[in-house]
Amino acid sequence: MYERRKTRQVQVGSVAVGGDAPISIQSMTTTKTADVDGTLAQIYALAAAGCDIVRCTCNEEEAAEGLAQIVPRSPVPIVADIHFQYRLALAAMEAGVQALRLNPGNIRKPEHIKAVAREAKDRRIPIRIGVNAGSLDPDIAEQYGVNTPEALVASAVRELDHFRDVDFDDVKISVKSSNVRVMIDAYRLLADTVDHPLHLGVTEAGPIPQGLVKGTAGIGTLLAEGIGDTIRFSLTADPVEEAKAGRVLLESLGLRERKGLDLIACPSCGRAEVDVIRVARDAQAALEGLNIPLQVAVMGCVVNGPGEAREADLGIAAGRGKGHLFVKGHVVRVVPEAEMVDALIAEAKAIIEEGVEARIAAADENAEAIAAATRDELIQIQGIDANHSADTIERIHQIVD
Ligand code: SF4
Repeated sequence: MYERRKTRQVQVGSVAVGGDAPISIQSMTTTKTADVDGTLAQIYALAAAGCDIVRCTCNEEEAAEGLAQIVPRSPVPIVADIHFQYRLALAAMEAGVQALRLNPGNIRKPEHIKAVAREAKDRRIPIRIGVNAGSLDPDIAEQYGVNTPEALVASAVRELDHFRDVDFDDVKISVKSSNVRVMIDAYRLLADTVDHPLHLGVTEAGPIPQGLVKGTAGIGTLLAEGIGDTIRFSLTADPVEEAKAGRVLLESLGLRERKGLDLIACPSCGRAEVDVIRVARDAQAALEGLNIPLQVAVMGCVVNGPGEAREADLGIAAGRGKGHLFVKGHVVRVVPEAEMVDALIAEAKAIIEEGVEARIAAADENAEAIAAATRDELIQIQGIDANHSADTIERIHQIVD
């Protein structure tokens, strides 16, 4: 094991970062955040690939509104990426995100930075100071050079000072460059300067394979030195490739356990028809011992569950006292709720023996129709807006307008 640098710990929703917490994997969605269903589908695919935390852009009011609907249904904590408008940081927090990423080069007015930090402090939301070599304050670039480790660290420290002025230090930091050597030296310098958890990445690393090689060279070198608490590969590729790369790197370095079963579960929300935590726990206990290389999803409702977790090999979603078993998003069987976990185990074994396609072909012929009818029934009962996102969106309008 590498001796890990000692850092303080911050809490990104359910995921601890820094201290003795496992090194987490992050990625970023490529959809428009206002496209709620498309973004959630990508988030679920990322979670299934091993991603612990997902970042979504919050670049316009519609994106903040999207976040209000995405956050309650996301299986992993969501970080809002803020660009130039500090009000969108406030709106993203109102939408319920578990963390923010601010680029010091983009929001420069100290009063705006402090307004965001004060709000984050009140809401106990951590902020990542995400310095990027491409967008440094001009005076810092002039003093230290545009793409130097010293410039990147000076930018992070200046932002940290603004935060400290309002007594906010729930912070993790990144100092990314597309130049691997600069990136490595910047993080080494930063690790000697602060005790905040560090988010590692080589920015704009490019397509596969060069992006993978650059990311691995930068992130892997630092991890082997004990530096780094959370990582992101920045690839010009499907973000799922970023999550997979992160997982493989951590596994290769012995920093993450290799898993047979990948169990993902929705967080449960206003639509949940079952105690998701209990069902997920029972499913994990039952499936873990089988050592099967499947992605299995436990979803609280049939309205969104099979669609949100359509990348999973197998899943179960609850609805009106029934369990809806789905394979790659296709509902294949409907069973009494009490038999949900048993049905899940039987189906997992059948998939291992027969394969996914054969199990989809063997679906009960009326399972999809029952699921569709239950979905409609639930929408009638709960309404379209079961999470009361409209109220949150109204508050977002008041913040941004
Ligand atoms: S209960 Fe349904 S809508 Fe809510 S998070 Fe779970 S699957 Fe998504």
